Amino acid sequence: MTIEAHKETLEFKAEVSQVLDLVIRSLYSNKEIFLRELVSNASDAAEKLRFEALSDDGLYEGDSELRIRVTMDREAGTLTISDNGIGLGRQEVMETIGSIASSGTRRFIESLSGDQAKDSKLIGQFGVGFYSAYIVADKVTLTSRRAGLGAEHGVRWESDGRGSYTLETVEKAGRGTDVTLHLKEDEKEFLDSWRLRSIIGKFSDHIALPVEMVKELYGEEAEQKKDEPPEFEQVNRGTALWMRNKSEITEGEYHDFYKHVSHDFEPPLSYAHNRVEGTNEYTTLLFVPKKAPWDLFDREQKHGVKLYVKRVFIMDEADKLMPHYLRFVKGVVDSDDLPLNVSRELLQHNRKIDTIRQANTKRILGLLETLASDEPEKYGAFWDEFGKVLKEGPAEDFANKERLAALMRFATTHSDSNDQRETLDGYIERMKEGQDKIYYITADTPVAARFSPHLEVFRKKGVEVLLLSDRVDEWLVNHLSEYKGKSLHSVAKGDLDLGELADKEEKEAKEKAAAEHGSLLERLKTALGERVEAVRPSTRLVDSPACLVVGEDDMSANLARVLKAVGQSAPNTKPTLEINLDHPLVRRLESEADEARFGDLGLILFDQAQLAEGGQLDDPAGFVGRLNKLMLNMMIAGG
Ligand code: ADP
Repeated sequence: MTIEAHKETLEFKAEVSQVLDLVIRSLYSNKEIFLRELVSNASDAAEKLRFEALSDDGLYEGDSELRIRVTMDREAGTLTISDNGIGLGRQEVMETIGSIASSGTRRFIESLSGDQAKDSKLIGQFGVGFYSAYIVADKVTLTSRRAGLGAEHGVRWESDGRGSYTLETVEKAGRGTDVTLHLKEDEKEFLDSWRLRSIIGKFSDHIALPVEMVKELYGEEAEQKKDEPPEFEQVNRGTALWMRNKSEITEGEYHDFYKHVSHDFEPPLSYAHNRVEGTNEYTTLLFVPKKAPWDLFDREQKHGVKLYVKRVFIMDEADKLMPHYLRFVKGVVDSDDLPLNVSRELLQHNRKIDTIRQANTKRILGLLETLASDEPEKYGAFWDEFGKVLKEGPAEDFANKERLAALMRFATTHSDSNDQRETLDGYIERMKEGQDKIYYITADTPVAARFSPHLEVFRKKGVEVLLLSDRVDEWLVNHLSEYKGKSLHSVAKGDLDLGELADKEEKEAKEKAAAEHGSLLERLKTALGERVEAVRPSTRLVDSPACLVVGEDDMSANLARVLKAVGQSAPNTKPTLEINLDHPLVRRLESEADEARFGDLGLILFDQAQLAEGGQLDDPAGFVGRLNKLMLNMMIAGG
């Protein structure tokens, strides 16, 4: 096999240097995290090797003692983190180290605001991993060899992090990766063995692999052994945190472990650690993060739960361990009963996995319920981050629908705030006498929802309405048709039957009006033609002259708009025009004898009803033309 021994210089993708600058600036106050990130990478690499070696133990090259070593060279001013894990080939180095996970980086750059404080929070959500080395180093050299390949297949990558890097093929006897940091002049504190030991103790105590450093020798012993090869000693605890007894683990240790699995910089919002005994034995350690990751709604979004079998890492992003709507949960599931050679396919139809998923779901819902009742403010912040994902729940997880619904928070007409803070239980408590439904409206924005003409009668009667303006809400109400025996009902659909809420006289008055004004309704229907299904008197309106409603089972106008906005087709549902017979405009219309003018006025009514609910006009120019004609007539008449 020929080997490309040549040294080449390659340019970083444009974004890399930008990200680096930001990383260095933002993380400077917390600079020792670089060690956690590099040790995490080394530990991942070792776990990958352990897993691949299950089917090919030749990869161990006769040495299956996996470990990480941190060494330093005080004279050269370098610090090296070495692992004997899976290692990287030349191409892999280019793809992973040379580009930073590229799609993520691009999105990251796009979401930068220029406000340093805000941007540095984003870093936690994206994860910077390897590049955190540049917080303390002005040059980084990575030397690696893929396990199972000959020593001549080593590769060396080097960069000062300013636009380009070099890549060359080198000899590397041991498999795995050495990352050498050439420390900046004022970062030499990281050459102090005790300082390093304390950082490793803090961040990497709980990883399942030993982290070793050279034993410090003093006095006579140092003198005697000065020509011998250095002796290493383990400086972290090196047992998987999740296998330890809950009562012996401190809050701080849980937080550090969370940072290790999630690459987050902030502690988690909450966590649950459990051991399940019996026919299906397993341990779970699950975390709910504080902040949503940038790719929460990305189709490619990765799940955050790692699967281990008997302490051996099996896979990242094990999406069968959590329902999709809880994809933000991070952590570890370690099973004693699954086979070590378990594959993704096998996970698809595995009863043990199904049981674990159900139990995980219950744990997280329980965690959220406790948070919601004990620390409502914290829960509110959680909801702002993850509410939209939880709203996917009822569609996916029928069994937990009711529990999920109780966890939901909504903006409603009960308060003036558009924050989603009200519960369905609260709504039910506030229901008016005679009210048997939970009413909601869906719209593009909270403001459009709050001021929609469809709410007028509800406001008048003091009946609360849920204001739904997240895109996922349409999906939610489709799958959550009732809660605690009360059906959820759109205020913009069907012939509004307020049931006991409408008083008898009102009903009779409307019926009478409909009979009396039959010809107006007919004339309007003729004028509007195919645009509408029907024209009828409204029970919804108080202040507005008209509004549009769709049939009980039709797609809501809001959903049709959402679908069109994302380029999908939506059925062209014909709405029904409802008019307010008490409104002066409508009264005036009735006495209009000129049919052409009547037609114009009818169209204006129709178009403005469309606008009032946040819709778009099919023929905006036509609307403006008709309006101008009217205004002009009015001016002529007036002046
Ligand atoms: P992340 O770990 O979040 O993917 P990093 O920037 O830390 O991002 O690392 C990018 C990739 O480089 C890793 O996913 C891994 O494939 C590779 N990598 C980093 N360090 C090592 C290592 N010590 N051994 C093997 N591969 C590594």
